[in-house]
Amino acid sequence: GMPAPPPPVLAPRRKTRQIGVGKVGVGSESPVSVQSMTTTPTTDINATLQQIAELTASGCDIVRVACPTADDAAALPIIAGKSQIPVIADIHFQPKYVFAAIDAGCAGVRVNPGNIRKFDDQVREISKAAAEAGVSIRIGVNAGSLDKRLMEKYGKATPEALVESALWEASLFEEHGFYDFKISVKHHDPVIMVRAYELLAERGDWPLHLGVTEAGPAFQGTIKSATAFGHLLAEGIGDTIRVSLSAPPAEEVKVGNQILESLNLKPRKLEIVSCPSCGRAQVDVYTLADEVTAGLEGMEVPLRVAVMGCVVNGPGEARDADLGVASGNGKGQIFVKGEVIKTVPESEIVETLIAEANRIAEDAENG
Ligand code: SF4
Repeated sequence: GMPAPPPPVLAPRRKTRQIGVGKVGVGSESPVSVQSMTTTPTTDINATLQQIAELTASGCDIVRVACPTADDAAALPIIAGKSQIPVIADIHFQPKYVFAAIDAGCAGVRVNPGNIRKFDDQVREISKAAAEAGVSIRIGVNAGSLDKRLMEKYGKATPEALVESALWEASLFEEHGFYDFKISVKHHDPVIMVRAYELLAERGDWPLHLGVTEAGPAFQGTIKSATAFGHLLAEGIGDTIRVSLSAPPAEEVKVGNQILESLNLKPRKLEIVSCPSCGRAQVDVYTLADEVTAGLEGMEVPLRVAVMGCVVNGPGEARDADLGVASGNGKGQIFVKGEVIKTVPESEIVETLIAEANRIAEDAENG
Protein backbone atom coordinates (compact mmCIF):
# COMPACT_ATOMS: atom_id res chain seq x y z
CA GLY A 1 0.00 0.00 0.00
CA MET A 2 0.86 3.67 0.21
CA PRO A 3 3.72 4.50 2.54
CA ALA A 4 2.52 6.27 5.67
CA PRO A 5 3.00 10.05 5.54
CA PRO A 6 5.89 11.30 7.66
CA PRO A 7 4.82 12.21 11.18
CA PRO A 8 4.27 15.92 11.86
CA VAL A 9 7.12 18.13 13.13
CA LEU A 10 6.87 21.40 15.03
CA ALA A 11 8.74 23.46 12.45
CA PRO A 12 10.46 23.04 9.12
CA ARG A 13 14.23 22.96 9.41
CA ARG A 14 15.99 26.30 9.02
CA LYS A 15 17.66 26.31 5.59
CA THR A 16 21.41 25.94 5.91
CA ARG A 17 24.36 25.28 3.71
CA GLN A 18 25.20 21.61 3.64
CA ILE A 19 28.47 20.13 4.85
CA GLY A 20 29.73 16.61 5.31
CA VAL A 21 31.39 15.02 8.30
CA GLY A 22 32.69 12.02 6.41
CA LYS A 23 29.66 10.03 5.28
CA VAL A 24 27.29 11.96 7.56
CA GLY A 25 25.68 15.04 6.03
CA VAL A 26 25.16 17.98 8.35
CA GLY A 27 22.72 20.68 7.30
CA SER A 28 19.06 21.09 6.50
CA GLU A 29 19.13 18.46 3.74
CA SER A 30 20.16 15.79 6.23
CA PRO A 31 18.45 14.43 9.32
CA VAL A 32 19.64 15.94 12.60
CA SER A 33 22.57 13.78 13.72
CA VAL A 34 23.68 12.76 17.19
CA GLN A 35 27.25 13.13 18.41
CA SER A 36 29.17 12.16 21.48
CA MET A 37 32.76 12.23 22.67
CA THR A 38 34.98 9.45 23.93
CA THR A 39 36.15 9.56 27.55
CA THR A 40 39.08 7.16 27.14
CA PRO A 41 42.60 8.56 26.70
CA THR A 42 42.94 8.90 22.93
CA THR A 43 46.40 7.36 23.24
CA ASP A 44 44.72 4.14 24.42
CA ILE A 45 43.71 3.13 20.92
CA ASN A 46 42.01 -0.15 21.84
CA ALA A 47 39.93 1.34 24.64
CA THR A 48 38.95 4.26 22.42
CA LEU A 49 37.92 2.00 19.53
CA GLN A 50 35.99 -0.18 21.97
CA GLN A 51 34.11 2.86 23.25
CA ILE A 52 33.46 4.06 19.70
CA ALA A 53 31.99 0.62 18.90
CA GLU A 54 29.67 0.94 21.92
CA LEU A 55 28.65 4.42 20.85
CA THR A 56 27.99 3.23 17.32
CA ALA A 57 25.81 0.42 18.66
CA SER A 58 23.82 2.86 20.77
CA GLY A 59 22.99 5.02 17.75
CA CYS A 60 25.78 7.60 17.65
CA ASP A 61 26.29 9.17 14.20
CA ILE A 62 29.58 11.06 14.74
CA VAL A 63 32.22 10.71 17.46
CA ARG A 64 34.72 13.25 18.73
CA VAL A 65 38.04 12.43 20.36
CA ALA A 66 40.23 14.82 22.32
CA CYS A 67 43.65 15.55 20.90
CA PRO A 68 45.65 17.48 23.52
CA THR A 69 49.15 16.04 22.88
CA ALA A 70 51.42 14.73 20.13
CA ASP A 71 50.81 11.19 21.37
CA ASP A 72 47.07 11.67 20.93
CA ALA A 73 47.63 13.00 17.43
CA ALA A 74 49.76 9.94 16.69
CA ALA A 75 46.85 7.67 17.65
CA LEU A 76 44.43 9.35 15.24
CA PRO A 77 45.28 7.46 12.01
CA ILE A 78 44.35 4.07 13.48
CA ILE A 79 41.29 5.42 15.30
CA ALA A 80 39.99 7.28 12.26
CA GLY A 81 40.75 4.28 10.05
CA LYS A 82 38.99 1.69 12.19
CA SER A 83 36.04 3.66 13.56
CA GLN A 84 32.69 2.69 12.03
CA ILE A 85 31.47 6.30 12.28
CA PRO A 86 33.18 9.58 11.29
CA VAL A 87 35.75 10.83 13.78
CA ILE A 88 36.24 14.49 14.68
CA ALA A 89 39.47 15.55 16.40
CA ASP A 90 38.94 18.08 19.17
CA ILE A 91 41.78 20.57 19.14
CA HIS A 92 42.21 23.62 21.28
CA PHE A 93 45.52 25.31 20.87
CA GLN A 94 47.85 23.76 18.40
CA PRO A 95 47.58 24.19 14.63
CA LYS A 96 50.10 21.37 14.16
CA TYR A 97 47.52 18.92 15.52
CA VAL A 98 44.92 20.30 13.13
CA PHE A 99 47.21 19.35 10.26
CA ALA A 100 47.96 16.00 11.93
CA ALA A 101 44.24 15.25 12.28
CA ILE A 102 43.61 16.10 8.64
CA ASP A 103 46.52 13.86 7.57
CA ALA A 104 45.23 11.11 9.89
CA GLY A 105 42.00 10.83 7.94
CA CYS A 106 39.72 12.41 10.51
CA ALA A 107 36.39 13.48 9.00
CA GLY A 108 36.35 16.72 10.90
CA VAL A 109 38.23 18.98 13.25
CA ARG A 110 36.81 21.07 16.04
CA VAL A 111 38.69 24.27 16.77
CA ASN A 112 38.17 26.65 19.63
CA PRO A 113 38.15 30.30 18.61
CA GLY A 114 39.14 31.46 22.08
CA ASN A 115 42.56 30.25 21.11
CA ILE A 116 42.66 30.62 17.38
CA ARG A 117 43.79 34.24 17.52
CA LYS A 118 47.21 32.78 18.19
CA PHE A 119 47.16 31.10 14.81
CA ASP A 120 45.19 33.67 12.93
CA ASP A 121 47.80 33.69 10.16
CA GLN A 122 47.56 29.91 9.81
CA VAL A 123 43.85 29.87 9.03
CA ARG A 124 44.73 30.08 5.34
CA GLU A 125 46.84 26.91 5.51
CA ILE A 126 44.28 25.12 7.65
CA SER A 127 41.53 26.06 5.18
CA LYS A 128 43.61 24.85 2.26
CA ALA A 129 44.54 21.53 3.89
CA ALA A 130 40.98 20.88 5.06
CA ALA A 131 39.49 21.74 1.66
CA GLU A 132 41.95 19.47 -0.15
CA ALA A 133 41.22 16.58 2.19
CA GLY A 134 37.44 17.13 2.23
CA VAL A 135 37.54 17.67 5.97
CA SER A 136 34.95 19.89 7.61
CA ILE A 137 35.54 22.07 10.64
CA ARG A 138 33.49 23.00 13.65
CA ILE A 139 34.00 26.43 15.08
CA GLY A 140 33.30 25.61 18.70
CA VAL A 141 32.69 28.78 20.69
CA ASN A 142 32.49 28.04 24.37
CA ALA A 143 31.55 30.38 27.21
CA GLY A 144 34.42 29.02 29.28
CA SER A 145 37.13 29.98 26.80
CA LEU A 146 35.84 33.16 25.22
CA ASP A 147 38.38 35.53 23.71
CA LYS A 148 39.76 38.00 26.27
CA ARG A 149 38.83 40.97 24.11
CA LEU A 150 35.18 39.89 24.08
CA MET A 151 35.14 39.22 27.82
CA GLU A 152 36.38 42.77 28.33
CA LYS A 153 33.83 44.19 25.92
CA TYR A 154 30.79 42.33 27.29
CA GLY A 155 31.87 41.67 30.89
CA LYS A 156 30.77 38.04 30.64
CA ALA A 157 29.79 35.38 28.14
CA THR A 158 26.51 36.90 26.99
CA PRO A 159 24.64 35.57 23.93
CA GLU A 160 25.93 38.60 22.00
CA ALA A 161 29.51 37.89 23.05
CA LEU A 162 29.27 34.24 21.98
CA VAL A 163 27.79 35.24 18.63
CA GLU A 164 30.38 37.97 18.02
CA SER A 165 33.11 35.42 18.63
CA ALA A 166 31.49 32.98 16.20
CA LEU A 167 30.98 35.61 13.49
CA TRP A 168 34.57 36.78 13.73
CA GLU A 169 35.88 33.26 13.53
CA ALA A 170 33.58 32.37 10.64
CA SER A 171 34.81 35.43 8.75
CA LEU A 172 38.43 34.29 9.12
CA PHE A 173 37.66 31.02 7.34
CA GLU A 174 35.34 32.58 4.78
CA GLU A 175 37.98 35.16 3.87
CA HIS A 176 40.04 32.24 2.68
CA GLY A 177 37.17 30.80 0.69
CA PHE A 178 36.48 28.01 3.18
CA TYR A 179 32.80 27.35 3.88
CA ASP A 180 32.67 23.73 5.05
CA PHE A 181 32.14 24.46 8.69
CA LYS A 182 29.44 24.35 11.29
CA ILE A 183 29.28 26.47 14.41
CA SER A 184 28.44 25.92 18.05
CA VAL A 185 27.96 28.60 20.71
CA LYS A 186 27.76 26.64 23.92
CA HIS A 187 26.95 27.82 27.40
CA HIS A 188 26.02 25.96 30.56
CA ASP A 189 22.90 28.08 31.01
CA PRO A 190 20.15 26.89 28.63
CA VAL A 191 18.59 30.36 28.48
CA ILE A 192 21.81 32.04 27.33
CA MET A 193 22.58 29.13 25.03
CA VAL A 194 19.15 29.25 23.34
CA ARG A 195 19.37 33.00 22.82
CA ALA A 196 22.88 32.72 21.39
CA TYR A 197 21.80 30.12 18.82
CA GLU A 198 18.72 32.14 17.90
CA LEU A 199 20.85 35.24 17.29
CA LEU A 200 23.43 33.26 15.36
CA ALA A 201 20.75 31.61 13.20
CA GLU A 202 19.64 35.08 12.06
CA ARG A 203 23.11 36.00 10.90
CA GLY A 204 23.91 33.33 8.35
CA ASP A 205 23.21 29.91 6.91
CA TRP A 206 25.86 27.89 8.71
CA PRO A 207 24.80 24.47 9.96
CA LEU A 208 24.61 24.58 13.74
CA HIS A 209 25.85 22.08 16.29
CA LEU A 210 23.79 22.31 19.48
CA GLY A 211 25.23 21.79 22.93
CA VAL A 212 24.76 22.83 26.54
CA THR A 213 28.18 22.64 28.20
CA GLU A 214 28.75 21.21 31.65
CA ALA A 215 25.08 20.27 31.73
CA GLY A 216 25.70 18.16 34.80
CA PRO A 217 24.92 14.65 36.00
CA ALA A 218 22.49 12.52 34.01
CA PHE A 219 19.18 13.74 35.44
CA GLN A 220 19.90 17.49 35.39
CA GLY A 221 21.92 17.33 32.20
CA THR A 222 19.18 15.45 30.39
CA ILE A 223 16.59 18.02 31.36
CA LYS A 224 18.79 21.03 30.57
CA SER A 225 19.67 19.61 27.16
CA ALA A 226 16.14 18.49 26.34
CA THR A 227 14.74 21.88 27.32
CA ALA A 228 17.29 23.87 25.34
CA PHE A 229 17.44 21.61 22.28
CA GLY A 230 13.68 21.15 22.32
CA HIS A 231 13.16 24.89 22.16
CA LEU A 232 15.62 25.39 19.31
CA LEU A 233 14.61 22.32 17.32
CA ALA A 234 10.97 23.38 17.64
CA GLU A 235 12.05 26.54 15.79
CA GLY A 236 13.83 24.46 13.17
CA ILE A 237 17.27 25.42 14.54
CA GLY A 238 19.91 22.72 14.96
CA ASP A 239 21.53 20.28 12.53
CA THR A 240 23.58 18.07 14.82
CA ILE A 241 23.41 17.70 18.59
CA ARG A 242 25.62 16.66 21.44
CA VAL A 243 24.19 16.06 24.89
CA SER A 244 26.91 16.55 27.54
CA LEU A 245 26.43 14.48 30.66
CA SER A 246 28.66 13.57 33.56
CA ALA A 247 27.79 9.99 32.66
CA PRO A 248 29.04 7.38 30.16
CA PRO A 249 28.85 8.73 26.60
CA ALA A 250 26.43 6.01 25.46
CA GLU A 251 23.94 7.65 27.83
CA GLU A 252 24.42 10.94 25.99
CA VAL A 253 23.59 9.22 22.73
CA LYS A 254 20.45 7.64 24.14
CA VAL A 255 19.26 11.00 25.42
CA GLY A 256 20.10 12.72 22.14
CA ASN A 257 18.21 10.14 20.12
CA GLN A 258 15.26 10.27 22.50
CA ILE A 259 15.06 14.06 22.11
CA LEU A 260 15.01 13.72 18.32
CA GLU A 261 12.48 10.88 18.43
CA SER A 262 10.22 12.88 20.75
CA LEU A 263 10.12 15.69 18.18
CA ASN A 264 9.61 13.30 15.23
CA LEU A 265 13.01 14.34 13.89
CA LYS A 266 14.07 10.71 13.92
CA PRO A 267 11.85 7.67 13.39
CA ARG A 268 10.65 6.34 16.73
CA LYS A 269 11.75 2.87 17.67
CA LEU A 270 10.63 1.47 20.97
CA GLU A 271 8.27 3.76 22.81
CA ILE A 272 6.86 2.75 26.17
CA VAL A 273 3.52 4.40 26.88
CA SER A 274 3.17 3.71 30.57
CA CYS A 275 0.67 5.30 32.89
CA PRO A 276 1.85 7.27 35.92
CA SER A 277 -0.17 4.93 38.15
CA CYS A 278 -2.80 6.22 40.55
CA GLY A 279 -5.04 5.01 43.31
CA ARG A 280 -6.79 2.66 40.88
CA ALA A 281 -3.61 0.76 40.02
CA GLN A 282 -3.72 -2.97 40.63
CA VAL A 283 -0.08 -3.64 39.83
CA ASP A 284 3.31 -2.04 40.54
CA VAL A 285 3.38 0.02 37.35
CA TYR A 286 6.91 1.38 37.86
CA THR A 287 8.46 -2.06 38.14
CA LEU A 288 6.39 -3.48 35.31
CA ALA A 289 7.31 -0.54 33.00
CA ASP A 290 11.01 -0.96 33.87
CA GLU A 291 10.88 -4.71 33.21
CA VAL A 292 9.10 -4.27 29.89
CA THR A 293 11.56 -1.53 28.88
CA ALA A 294 14.55 -3.72 29.79
CA GLY A 295 13.04 -6.75 28.03
CA LEU A 296 12.45 -4.86 24.79
CA GLU A 297 15.59 -2.71 24.74
CA GLY A 298 17.34 -2.64 21.40
CA MET A 299 14.24 -3.39 19.30
CA GLU A 300 14.85 -1.91 15.87
CA VAL A 301 11.25 -2.01 14.69
CA PRO A 302 9.05 0.94 15.68
CA LEU A 303 6.78 -0.28 18.43
CA ARG A 304 4.56 1.53 20.89
CA VAL A 305 3.97 -0.57 23.97
CA ALA A 306 1.45 0.47 26.60
CA VAL A 307 1.78 -0.49 30.25
CA MET A 308 -1.39 0.39 32.16
CA GLY A 309 -2.00 -0.08 35.83
CA CYS A 310 -5.70 -0.92 35.64
CA VAL A 311 -8.34 -2.12 33.25
CA VAL A 312 -10.63 0.88 33.78
CA ASN A 313 -8.81 3.29 31.51
CA GLY A 314 -6.08 0.98 30.32
CA PRO A 315 -7.11 -0.33 26.91
CA GLY A 316 -8.89 2.90 26.04
CA GLU A 317 -5.95 5.13 26.88
CA ALA A 318 -3.60 2.83 25.02
CA ARG A 319 -5.67 2.41 21.88
CA ASP A 320 -2.90 3.91 19.77
CA ALA A 321 -0.39 1.38 21.03
CA ASP A 322 0.73 -1.59 18.96
CA LEU A 323 0.76 -3.74 22.03
CA GLY A 324 -0.04 -3.33 25.66
CA VAL A 325 -1.10 -4.64 29.00
CA ALA A 326 -3.78 -3.51 31.41
CA SER A 327 -3.56 -5.08 34.84
CA GLY A 328 -6.27 -6.08 37.23
CA ASN A 329 -6.98 -8.75 39.81
CA GLY A 330 -3.50 -10.27 39.61
CA LYS A 331 -3.85 -10.71 35.86
CA GLY A 332 -2.85 -8.84 32.78
CA GLN A 333 -5.04 -8.27 29.74
CA ILE A 334 -2.72 -8.32 26.78
CA PHE A 335 -3.98 -6.28 23.88
CA VAL A 336 -2.80 -5.78 20.33
CA LYS A 337 -4.03 -2.71 18.43
CA GLY A 338 -6.69 -2.15 21.07
CA GLU A 339 -8.10 -5.71 21.00
CA VAL A 340 -7.61 -7.97 24.01
CA ILE A 341 -5.95 -11.12 22.69
CA LYS A 342 -5.41 -12.95 25.95
CA THR A 343 -5.36 -12.69 29.70
CA VAL A 344 -2.33 -14.00 31.59
CA PRO A 345 -1.29 -14.21 35.26
CA GLU A 346 0.69 -11.20 36.47
CA SER A 347 3.89 -13.25 36.61
CA GLU A 348 3.67 -13.90 32.86
CA ILE A 349 2.95 -10.35 31.70
CA VAL A 350 6.53 -9.41 30.84
CA GLU A 351 7.37 -12.61 28.94
CA THR A 352 4.09 -12.48 27.04
CA LEU A 353 4.67 -8.87 25.98
CA ILE A 354 8.20 -9.69 24.85
CA ALA A 355 6.96 -12.69 22.83
CA GLU A 356 4.20 -10.62 21.20
CA ALA A 357 6.64 -7.75 20.48
CA ASN A 358 9.02 -10.14 18.76
CA ARG A 359 6.16 -11.60 16.73
CA ILE A 360 5.10 -8.11 15.60
CA ALA A 361 8.74 -7.26 14.79
CA GLU A 362 9.09 -10.43 12.69
CA ASP A 363 5.88 -9.69 10.82
CA ALA A 364 7.14 -6.17 10.14
CA GLU A 365 10.49 -7.44 8.86
CA ASN A 366 8.78 -9.96 6.58
CA GLY A 367 6.67 -7.13 5.18
FE1 SF4 B 1 -4.60 5.07 37.12
FE2 SF4 B 1 -5.46 3.06 35.60
FE3 SF4 B 1 -4.85 5.44 34.47
FE4 SF4 B 1 -2.90 3.89 35.41
S1 SF4 B 1 -4.31 3.37 33.71
S2 SF4 B 1 -3.16 6.09 35.80
S3 SF4 B 1 -3.84 2.96 37.18
S4 SF4 B 1 -6.52 5.00 35.91
